[in-house]
Amino acid sequence: MAGKYNKLTDSLISSLIEIVGPGNVISGEACENYSRDETPNCRPVLPEVVVRPENAVAIARVLRLACENKIPVTPRGGGTGLSAGAVPIYGGIVLSLEKMERILEIDEANFTATVEAGVTLEKFTLAVSERGLYFPLYPGEKTATLGGNMATNAGGMRAVRYGVARNFILGLEAVLPTGEIIQTGGKYFKCSTGYDLTQLITGSEGTLAVITSMILKLTNPAGRSEILLVPFNSLGEAIGTVQEILKKGLRPIGIEFMQRNVVELAERFTGKEIPYHQYASFLMILIEAENEEEILDQASRISEICLLRNAVDVFIPGSERAKRDLMEAREKMYPAVQHNGLLTMADVVVPRSSIAEFVEKAEALTQKSSLGFFAVGHAGDGNVHIMLTGTSSGANEKLAQEILRDIYELGVSMGGMISGEHGIGAEKKAFLPLAMNREKIELMRRIKKAFDPYNILNPGKVLYPD
Ligand SMILES: Cc1cc2nc3c(=O)[nH]c(=O)nc-3n(C[C@H](O)[C@H](O)[C@H](O)COP(=O)(O)OP(=O)(O)OC[C@H]3O[C@@H](n4cnc5c(N)ncnc54)[C@H](O)[C@@H]3O)c2cc1C
Repeated sequence: MAGKYNKLTDSLISSLIEIVGPGNVISGEACENYSRDETPNCRPVLPEVVVRPENAVAIARVLRLACENKIPVTPRGGGTGLSAGAVPIYGGIVLSLEKMERILEIDEANFTATVEAGVTLEKFTLAVSERGLYFPLYPGEKTATLGGNMATNAGGMRAVRYGVARNFILGLEAVLPTGEIIQTGGKYFKCSTGYDLTQLITGSEGTLAVITSMILKLTNPAGRSEILLVPFNSLGEAIGTVQEILKKGLRPIGIEFMQRNVVELAERFTGKEIPYHQYASFLMILIEAENEEEILDQASRISEICLLRNAVDVFIPGSERAKRDLMEAREKMYPAVQHNGLLTMADVVVPRSSIAEFVEKAEALTQKSSLGFFAVGHAGDGNVHIMLTGTSSGANEKLAQEILRDIYELGVSMGGMISGEHGIGAEKKAFLPLAMNREKIELMRRIKKAFDPYNILNPGKVLYPD
């Protein structure tokens, strides 16, 4: 397939320099930083060149040039993705959005913000909070860009109450692979006018269009927040408790689960002890409320349910510092496992009530091997991250991929999907037929072709090229 693309010539590189400016074209060894993302065991691929356009018009010109000359283009945000979506697997051009990092408007009257795609989540949440507003989307990695968040339909730890990336996007500006600039949606909350292109481009992992800016929904901040860490003797008891909490009409912003061996690794990685670390399974329940009285009420009602469901105890940190330590431990669980020889990670989503059964069966699939098995995830929305570890060798990597396939098959057979929030990227496309029939994959191919007839935008991601 790579043979179907052309290489960049000196004359094409000169054209790119003319479009984006000499300071915004990177080549040679400096491209190394754009050759990988945060995917476990990511195989780096060097792009021939990296361009960093400063506006949509320049992006349109780059894409037109790429189309005319059949050069692959890989859009890139913060490079924090976990599916190798931003890895330029056919070389060519990496189109980095890093220079498009302006917050164009925060509209307090309409509770919206208009931002360029390269703005990081960290910069944006801070700017919004300085204006007394709140952007709740919270995938674990704040150096990700908002464009990347939307392109992957990121989820994270507050999805139980606030939803995932696609619930925050009202409209966008995007450049099509053939170089046209389109605007979709607007500062309104309902629309029944034609196909919903905003939602089609959101979650398309940079295969249909390059998002250049977007209109995002904001909300009011909660007055108070709290975390409850709840140890259990089994994952079954922990997951059963999640159903009870939600059935009673309580709406935590997030409910995370984690197994003891992940907690141990996080403790070692951060050097900070986690209370009750000797127990088998944990829920970490994140709550928000208007004021102290409401937060105490929520905490006490949730604690009561947990204890009735056999929780060992309920730990409430009490100080801001202890709360931060707990959040840090949760955020560092992925790097902690990565530090211990992470070979691969599944991001399966299953019906919420099936999490414990899924984890138990997935672990049984791994027991025939010597690989380590770690499970953590977003219990409130059924999203399970299973991480397999071992010494890095060809044999172990092959075994991990075989087990991964079995885990995906299991997840789908239990009514789930192979990715809940990290996307398909280059990593999971071989597994797509486990989750979708031929007709559905064919329809996706036709959509891809309608947007990208020359297949130059992020080829080999989500779908195999024709
Ligand atoms: C420690 C850690 C924890 C994480 N936790 C979570 C979590 O809880 N939930 C979760 O959902 N994710 C999580 N992630 C994954 C990651 O942060 C998300 O996938 C993020 O949304 C990617 O944003 P990015 O800017 O880094 O995109 P990149 O990695 O640069 O790109 C990701 C994909 O989006 C495309 N893309 C990027 N920008 C654009 C654009 N402007 N237009 C079109 N396509 C574009 C790329 O081509 C690629 O396919 C975690 C990652 C790490 C490292």
